[in-house]
Order: sequence, then structure tokens, then C-alpha cells
Amino acid sequence: MSEADCRFSAPKGVADLLPPRSALSRAATDYFGQLAPLWGYWPIETPLFEKTEVFERSVGGTSEIVTKQMYTFEDKSGDSITLRPEGTAGVVRAFIEHEIYKKEPLPWRVFYAGEMFRYERPQAGRYRQFKQVGVEAIGAEEPEADVEQIELCLTFLEGIGVVSPRLLLNSIGDKACRPRYLEALDGFLSSNDVSSKLCQECRLRIGRNPLRVLDCKRAECRRVTEFAPKSVEYLCGPCRVHFDAVQAGLQALGIEFVLESRLVRGLDYYVRTAFEVISEGLHAAQDAVAGGGRYDGLVESLGGPPTGAVGFAIGVERSLEATRWANILSIRQPRSGSKAESAASSGLLTPGYSEQKGPPRFRIRDSSPDVVVVGVDDSCRTAALALGSRLRREGIATVVSPVGKSLKARMKYADRAGAHITAVIGPEELTSQTVAIRLMGSTEAKIAKQRTVPSNRAVSEVLAILRSESSEGDGTVSTSAQREPK
Ligand code: AMP
Repeated sequence: MSEADCRFSAPKGVADLLPPRSALSRAATDYFGQLAPLWGYWPIETPLFEKTEVFERSVGGTSEIVTKQMYTFEDKSGDSITLRPEGTAGVVRAFIEHEIYKKEPLPWRVFYAGEMFRYERPQAGRYRQFKQVGVEAIGAEEPEADVEQIELCLTFLEGIGVVSPRLLLNSIGDKACRPRYLEALDGFLSSNDVSSKLCQECRLRIGRNPLRVLDCKRAECRRVTEFAPKSVEYLCGPCRVHFDAVQAGLQALGIEFVLESRLVRGLDYYVRTAFEVISEGLHAAQDAVAGGGRYDGLVESLGGPPTGAVGFAIGVERSLEATRWANILSIRQPRSGSKAESAASSGLLTPGYSEQKGPPRFRIRDSSPDVVVVGVDDSCRTAALALGSRLRREGIATVVSPVGKSLKARMKYADRAGAHITAVIGPEELTSQTVAIRLMGSTEAKIAKQRTVPSNRAVSEVLAILRSESSEGDGTVSTSAQREPK
């Protein structure tokens, strides 16, 4: 056998990630791990493979992923096993299996980072093994949860330098209103004029999963579906209210978006909000760096109680390809000279040497929120959302409590979530543009620190309290900004 015959290469569609580029991927996932706790998310690790039916039941039997892309095999005991093609199904399975809904305050917020496997035709930005970072908020019914996740997603993409990220938004309705929309869509697509112009695959989709026709990237199909009925025109009352609130929340946080009526997402479990982030830094055929939305019916369909939920996933390789970092890294060699200096001055390559004595200390990130913001009634929702966003920008881990529950239930939620401070905004505070800041727990010293402050000073007051608590050294309070290694 010649030497050449002995050489192996990686399977098609997968690649080795070698230094220094491997450092880029690691840095991006670490960065996500630093950001997500600011929104109240704890890390979760689920298996790389699940029983096949977990994906069949959740992703949906007619989806492209299940019909074509899964790596499925029988293990030695004859069980059908599938390498995970996405992260949500495993997280929901774990939520139900461990009966989290009985034990933890909801929403249960978790984030993950890990490999996904899909048998797709490899091309630029599309691999058979790729990394995703993502979050799931299970038990999150309210539109504010959608808005906060979009904010986290964009903060990450902007933070790693994705070129011109653009948020696309749609609502695809729910069980109540989608059938009427599907009927209209089916009627449109089935008309001779339209169906004759669709690709063969789309024609097959009409009867099985007409929403997916809207997803097709072929230019001719896109030209035809431009005039298809829009799901937002068929929303029932509750879906309309939810969608309006998501848009109002995004506007309140200054997040720009484009309504995209053909954004349906590939997975069957989505309802209401669907969103995607695309980047001009990528080829138009594969320009999505992130996608997410609501999946209110999924927990129930996998055997849990009816539970609202929302999540997103970001493709790590794809996002990094949408930045300029790879170019900068490729000029890292040689170690001295102007090119290397420009890489270092970009801020990407930080020196390995640290001023801290000895090797780094082992630390575990605490993801309990520093602050729970409580909006007392519906009129205070936007102000609560905006305060949450301002606090996080200062590195303070903040969760905005759902409005749907009683005030007492929300204070209890703040306590159970392990928050140090609640920031309460009621109609009175709204009128006087103030925020009532309370320390959790009931020692006299803490009660003495409760106060109402002007809302434009709320963030600095919270920071001051957290800092003073932490310097008092009782070990119970520290800001996220101070908690190493955030
Ligand atoms: P999805 O789970 O399909 O919503 O995908 C979320 C994100 O993961 C996409 O926006 C891409 O950035 C990334 N992604 C999905 N499929 C692949 C793939 N085959 N290769 C690389 N990245 C992918």
C-alpha cells in the first residue's frame, strides 16, 4: 500500500478547526456564556444524541430536518438514536423528564453551546457538524420574553462584530388562527398559475407543509410567493395582541426590525413570533446567522403540561464568517512586524500573560439575577422592559418578572430566583418617573436601604447598593460585573 493510500481526510461537510482560528470559535462561545447570565440564563448540557422520536415528535415529521437531514442509527441494543440536529428538543425533553415545572420558578431560563448535526449539502456556511449557541425560556408566556431574547441575540452578534445584522420578524399565528391561514395559502399555491412556476420540491410541499414553500430560496419560487397571503393578516385576537406588543417592545428598546411575511422557520413547533437575523457579510443564499421564535405547544406535545416558551439559536461558524475576524487572524503571522501589530491592535489577540499572580483560579459563574424588575400592571410593562435593558448594559444581571401573575406572586418569584434587589414600577412611579428599589430579605439594615429614586438615577443607585453590599463582605451580594470571570 502506498503512503498516499494511508492518508485519511475528514468526512464531507465537516472540518477541523485549527489554531489560531479555533481560538476565535472558543472566544465566541465564551462570550455568549458571559452575556446570557445577564439575561438570567443558566447553562444547560443535554446529550449529543437522543431517542429518535424526541426529534420526530418535536421538530415535526414533515420538516426537512426529520425527513432528510438527521443522522439516525440503531445502537447495539436496537434502539433508534439520532445525533441532535438542534438544541430545543433535548432541552424540552429534560424540562419534562426532571419535572422542572414542579420544582423551579418559571420561566426556566437556560442557555447552551454545542455541536449540531445535519446531513445537508455542504456549501459555504453550511456544514454537517456545526456549533450553535442558544437559549430557551420555558414557561415564558409574555411578549417581553421574545423582546429580551432578541435583544440578547443582537447584543451577541454585534459584540462579536457581525457585519450589518438585520432583524427579520413575523408572526405565524397559533392553533386557533393558523388553519384559516393555511387554507388561504394552500388555495393560492394550488392555483395553476402559481404551482406551475414552483420548483418540483415546492409543488410536493403544497399538500404536506405549505408554509415551507415560503421558505424556498430559489429565485423563481421567491418571485411567485412574493404575492402569497400573509400570516399576519390572519392572526386571531390574542396573536395580534402578542405581535403588537413584541413590536412595541422592540421599538421601546430602539431595536430596528423589518417585517418579513415569508419568514416561517423550518420547524413545525413554532407559533406566533418567528425571527431571524441575517448579515450582509454573507452570501445571500446562506445569510441567516440566527433564528428563533415561540414554541408554546411543544412542552405539551412531548408529554408535559401546557407551557409557553421561546428560544433562539445562533450558528457560531456562520456568525464568525459574517465578521472580519478571520481576515485579521490570518495576518497574525509573523509575530512581529506591522501586520501582527495591526491584529493585536484590533483587540482580538489579547496577550497570554496576565498580571494576576499564578494560574487562573477556578470559579463557577453565579447566574442568579442581581435584580428582578417588577412592573405592577399592564401600563408599566414597557418601562419595566426598558429598565431591565438599561441595567444589563451596566453588567447587572436582570430579569423582568412576568406581569401576568399577582404582585405577591411576583415578589415571591424574585425571592425564589435568588435576586438581591427588586426594582418596582407601579402606576404611581410611572407618573412621578421614579422606581422603588427594595433589597430582598428583611434585616433592618436592608429595610433602611429601600428607597424610591428618580428613574434616570435607578441604574446608578442599584450599582451603588450592590457595590456597598459586596464591600460589606457578607458574601451574599456582588454585581455581575464584579463576579469573575464575567
Ligand atoms: P436553525 O436551527 O435552522 O434555526 O438555525 C439557526 C442558525 O444555525 C442558522 O441561522 C445558522 O446560522 C446556523 N446553521 C443552521 N444550519 C447550519 C449548517 N448546516 N451549517 C452551519 N450553520 C448552520
